[in-house]
Amino acid sequence: MAKQDYYEILGIQKSADEKEIKRAYKRLAMKYHPDRTKGDKESEEKFKEINEAYEVLADKEKKAMYDQYGHAAFEQGGGAGGFGGFGDADFGDIFGDMFGDIFGGGRSRQRVVRGEDLRYDIEITLEEAVRGCKKDIQINTLVQCDTCHGSGAEAGSKVETCPTCHGAGRVRRQQGFFVTEQPCPHCHGTGKKIEKPCHTCHGDGRVHKTQNLSVTIPAGVDTGNQLRLAGKGAAGENGAPAGDLYVVIHVRKHHIFERDGNNLYCEVPISFTMAALGGEVEIPTLDGRLKVKIPAETQTGKLLRLRGKGITTRGYAGDLICEIVVETPIQLNEEQKELLRKLEESLEGKSAQRPKSSGFLDGVKKFFDNLGK
Ligand SMILES: [Zn+2]
Ligand SMILES: [Zn+2]
Repeated sequence: MAKQDYYEILGIQKSADEKEIKRAYKRLAMKYHPDRTKGDKESEEKFKEINEAYEVLADKEKKAMYDQYGHAAFEQGGGAGGFGGFGDADFGDIFGDMFGDIFGGGRSRQRVVRGEDLRYDIEITLEEAVRGCKKDIQINTLVQCDTCHGSGAEAGSKVETCPTCHGAGRVRRQQGFFVTEQPCPHCHGTGKKIEKPCHTCHGDGRVHKTQNLSVTIPAGVDTGNQLRLAGKGAAGENGAPAGDLYVVIHVRKHHIFERDGNNLYCEVPISFTMAALGGEVEIPTLDGRLKVKIPAETQTGKLLRLRGKGITTRGYAGDLICEIVVETPIQLNEEQKELLRKLEESLEGKSAQRPKSSGFLDGVKKFFDNLGK
């Protein structure tokens, strides 16, 4: 079943200030304190909920996250950052609502049809994903009709109780052995019958509108993470609660870095003179340039790990891993070629100076020797 709203748990309005939150908490905590309720399971549960709600609402940052994302703000799903996404918990909530309803376990009998959930795919850069960002988005959605304020009724017209379901919003149907409950087909679960439908929305209580929204994307998100904006989906019919908006993150491919969780990878090309003699090379990090020493006798493929220069999420900093690629020079002129030939001659027969190729040749020899046996 869906998790109860923290404001509801404390019995306060969303607009409640710090003092009111504290007062509500104190009052309820006293009432449900285990010392007073002596092992009553229900009270114990309630006490836990109260504390959980207070922990979030008393903390400015947590409260802001909760106000924007609802419970999804604190679910561990999809990876990094203080947000959830389509983790199991979220789906659990969605299905909990639906099935809870069908099988009669819902929170209220006269349940109105909630607005649809919406999905919005957003592309951001790696830098934005790492640092967090604010994005203005436009969604075409159903909003409450201004003319009738969501009631669906024309001004001055009567709203009566639905004769089919007698206001319950649901009807029972016998199917074989089973009795199932369904939303009333005539009033769509509202329990009301509108005498004269609103001329703007034709009785639906909502109209299509393009909405501008500002979305705060927390630092550390990755492709596939989803943010739930509670109540920002389509408005419900006839004033029913709105659905949620899911913002799905896609991080654009970066031209230098590749990401693996909190680690970043990049290739660093160096000349083979530098590979042999050592030197210093400038490498990019997300915080700017960094000078790194290349030791003498560096082979291609060597990984240099720069601790803590990757992506930081929840206080954990990943590494930047640079793969050294020794570059072969191209378009050589005769003089340069001659220099290289001289170098090659000077290395002839000196296997100790060529650790990779001599090791490789030994391996090849062993391989053919074994085949001959
Ligand atoms: Zn209307
Ligand atoms: Zn009805």
